[in-house]
Amino acid sequence: MMMGERAMHPAIDSRTAASLARPFRMLIDGQFVDALGGETIDVRNPATGEVIATVPVGGKEDMDRAVAAARRAFDQGSWSSLRPDERGRILWRTAELLEARADEFAELETLDNGKPIASARHGDIPYAASVLRYWAGWCTKVGGTTPLADTPGEYMVQTWPEPVGVAGLITPWNYPLAMAVVKHGPALAAGCTTIHKPAEQTPLTALRLGELFMEAGMPPGVVNIVTGHGRVAGAALADHEGVDKISFTGSTEVGKSLIGASRGNLKRLSLELGGKSPTIIFPDADMEKAIAGAAFGIFRNSGQVCAAGSRLYVPRSHFDQVIEGMAAIAQAHRIGPGLDPATTLGPVVSDVQQHRVLGYIESGIAEGATVVTGGRARGDQGYFVEPTILTDVNPRMRVVREEIFGPVVVATPVDDVEELAALANGTIYGLATTIWTQNISNAYRLAKRLRAGYVWVNCNGIAGPNLPFGGFKQSGWGREGGPEGIHAFTETKTVITAL
Ligand code: NAD
Repeated sequence: MMMGERAMHPAIDSRTAASLARPFRMLIDGQFVDALGGETIDVRNPATGEVIATVPVGGKEDMDRAVAAARRAFDQGSWSSLRPDERGRILWRTAELLEARADEFAELETLDNGKPIASARHGDIPYAASVLRYWAGWCTKVGGTTPLADTPGEYMVQTWPEPVGVAGLITPWNYPLAMAVVKHGPALAAGCTTIHKPAEQTPLTALRLGELFMEAGMPPGVVNIVTGHGRVAGAALADHEGVDKISFTGSTEVGKSLIGASRGNLKRLSLELGGKSPTIIFPDADMEKAIAGAAFGIFRNSGQVCAAGSRLYVPRSHFDQVIEGMAAIAQAHRIGPGLDPATTLGPVVSDVQQHRVLGYIESGIAEGATVVTGGRARGDQGYFVEPTILTDVNPRMRVVREEIFGPVVVATPVDDVEELAALANGTIYGLATTIWTQNISNAYRLAKRLRAGYVWVNCNGIAGPNLPFGGFKQSGWGREGGPEGIHAFTETKTVITAL
């Protein structure tokens, strides 16, 4: 079913309706509160543009209150002095509460972000629960080492990983709940207290997650959630002297601005930023799988994925076959509201993002690119963009160099596989790469030459809370997931005792 001949939305679950009817309030010091200024932001359904809820506009004073609460909770040891097993139990219990309310959370996520309900219900929400459980397990496993003292005399040396302190968590709008727990999980497992600033476009599930944390037994002040605009609430958090660490996911531009904001008290900074990730198909690839995988890599979540395969490199001998195959997949997508179970491609998150993506497509056309399929907005309401393939592109074009964050892929034929590493590495980013080949030596030889933090071979989109994720170059600083994810929220203390 295409836009224009769309059926009415199936009714949302009664629990989702009840959730939307309740006020969305910030969580500060264990209390659900409005902003001191009393103002609210409208939250819109990207499928219709309609306002579905309002959330408080947190300002600097609200952030001061949240930081004071998190500081107090940290300094008093409300969290770090709990038995690790008890901390793990609270995180695990939060995962269980989330699973019990998965239908409601999935519908809220779809209404807020636009993604197809099946993606939210079978992807984002169970993933978020598994992330919480993974980090619940880490609470009892954080530990140091006992290095030898290479010096005359007898010494006992230990390293103690200690929580870095009060952690500010700033998240984007593409995977709102998943990003929230990807940051809360390791921060809390390490013993930090948190202040979360969700994206202003998609704050609903983060605020409801705060309720689950409290229901699970989180002590007051350990988790705080402040909604508001990035340039005010986000900037106040990044700048705050009472915050020891910022973990940020979002645009490279804002990520760079946080380096300046962190200067005052030299707060620690983790940055998970943008990408312009290549998909590379070798001539010997299983073409059917490669075509389906390349299409999935750029069209899933309407292309709003930091690791989206937004540049495509294909041997000239197979170029037409791949482009025709991907165009057929693009045209078969059912574009519509995420709540319609038939929808496979939802809207982008906002009118701003829709204009941004369409603006990029126009700039590509103006610079000589050919639109093979898509290229336009769809429908007379909501923020839909057709899945789009651009050819006749070159490395100087903005569409090839810059992150579009929409369902738009730029495709280039390649004559010599020896060129692939240079082409893949040819942007300021270095987040992910997908390689399709049946020759494992091809895959590893190329993977070794890539300046990218994540490499998929004959698959795409596989991730997990135990897998380090992050970028080379301007795709960021540090890794989330696995042991490196915990290290991002600890400081190492070395203790040397003469015996
Ligand atoms: P953004 O970087 O502006 O926003 C991400 C988060 O940072 C939000 O919570 C926002 O409120 C906050 N923020 C914004 N300005 C801030 C500031 N000065 N100080 C502190 N926090 C601030 O991203 P966006 O405007 O929502 O999207 C713009 C582009 O960023 C997208 O088109 C895409 O290219 C990129 N993006 C990348 C990712 C990713 O996962 N890497 C996610 C979202 C957006």
